[in-house]
Amino acid sequence: MKKNITDFKLKNQRVIVRCDLNVPIKDGVILDDTRIKACLETIEHLVSAKAKVIILSHLGRVKEEKDKETNSLRPVADKLSELIGRPVKFVPYTRGMEVENAINSMEPRDIVMLENTRFEDLNGNKESGNDSELAHYWASLGDIFINDAFGTIHRAHASNVGIAKLLPSGIGFLVKNEIEKISSALNNPERPLVIMLGGAKVSDKIGVINNAVKIADYVLIGGGMPYTFYKALGYNVGLSIVDDSSLEFCRNIYSQYKNKILLPEDIVVASSISEGASTRITTYADIGSNEVGIDIGMATISRYKSILMNANTIIWNGPIGMFEIAKFSQGTRKVVEILSSSKAKIVVGGGDTISALNKFGFNNKRAHISTGGGATLEMLEGKELPGLSAISDK
Ligand code: AMP
Repeated sequence: MKKNITDFKLKNQRVIVRCDLNVPIKDGVILDDTRIKACLETIEHLVSAKAKVIILSHLGRVKEEKDKETNSLRPVADKLSELIGRPVKFVPYTRGMEVENAINSMEPRDIVMLENTRFEDLNGNKESGNDSELAHYWASLGDIFINDAFGTIHRAHASNVGIAKLLPSGIGFLVKNEIEKISSALNNPERPLVIMLGGAKVSDKIGVINNAVKIADYVLIGGGMPYTFYKALGYNVGLSIVDDSSLEFCRNIYSQYKNKILLPEDIVVASSISEGASTRITTYADIGSNEVGIDIGMATISRYKSILMNANTIIWNGPIGMFEIAKFSQGTRKVVEILSSSKAKIVVGGGDTISALNKFGFNNKRAHISTGGGATLEMLEGKELPGLSAISDK
C-alpha cells in the first residue's frame, strides 16, 4: 500500500506537489481549466494543513527554445490563484537563485509554482530522461513529495519518479481516487465486466487487448480497429484503416477468444472521409474496394447495447467511429447515451473518448472519467506505473 497525503504531518513542511496542469492554452488564454480544478483538493488540503506548497508541473512539449514562449505556466499560476482565492507566486525558472530565494522566504500556507518542468528538456532532456542531478536539485527544495499528476504517472521523469525516490513521498487525492477506481474495476469487478475498445490503431492497444481478454467477460471492438481483424480473417476492407503489423496478432487472439471478442456485424461505410460523403450500411463481408469503414451499424449498436445494459462494470477507451464528423458519429453517440443510463460501475479514459462524452452530453454522475489517457491504458495493460512504484510504502 502506498502512502498518501493524509499519512504525513504537513505543518511547516516544504511540500513539493507534482500536479498535471497541462491545460490547453491559446494566446495566453486557458481554454479548459479541468485539470487545474482537479488538483484543487490536494492543494487546498496542503494549505489548510499549513504546509509550504511548491508546485511542479509540465505543460506541453518543449523541444526548441521557441516552445518556451507558448508553454509557460504563468497563466496557469494566475488561474490557480483565482480558483483557490489565494496568491500563487510564480517563479519563471526551474532552478537557480530566484527559485531558492522564493522558497526560502515562504511562510506556511504560501504557494509557489515553478516554471514548466519540461523547460529542463532543452538542457539534455533532463526532465523527461529522469536526470539524477536534476531530481536531487528539486528534492533539495522540499521535505515531502506528493505526486498528484495521474496524467504522467506512467512515465519515469525527474519531477515524479526522480524526486519520489529521494524524499518521503505519497500520492495526492486525485491520484488516489484514479488508482482506486480503475484498480477496482480491473481487479475486483462486479461481473459481467465489459471492456469496450475503439480508436484508430490496433497496434496502440495490443497490450490492452491481451489483458482485456483475460479479465473481461466481453471485449467489444469498434472504431478503426475491426478492419485489421476483418483483414486478418480474410475479408476485403477497401480503404478502411488497417494496421498490417497487427494482422497476425488479430488472427491469433480472435481464434483463441472468439467467445469474448465481439466485432461489429454491420458497419457504416463511406465513399470518402468527409461530411459530404455518401454512406451505406453493410456487413463486414461486403465492403467495396473504394469504401472506408467509419462507424458501427444499427444491428451492432443493438447487440452492443444489450451487452452493455447487462454489464455491472464497464471500461471504455477509444471512440467507436469517426465521431468528429457528424455524419459518422451515430455509433459513438449511441454508446454515450447507453452509458448515460447504465447502472454499472463505469470507467472512461482517453482524450478523444472524453471529448466524445462531452460532445454527446454524457450524463452519469457515478461514472469515473479518468484524467489520464496513457496512464489508464497502461493500467488496462496490467503494467506497473513507475510514478506510483516510486512512492514510499506505508
Ligand atoms: P485513438 O487515439 O487511438 O483513441 O483514436 C481516436 C481516433 O480514432 C478518433 O479521432 C476517431 O476519429 C478515430 N476513429 C474512430 N473510428 C475510426 C475508423 N473507423 N477509422 C479510422 N479512425 C477512426
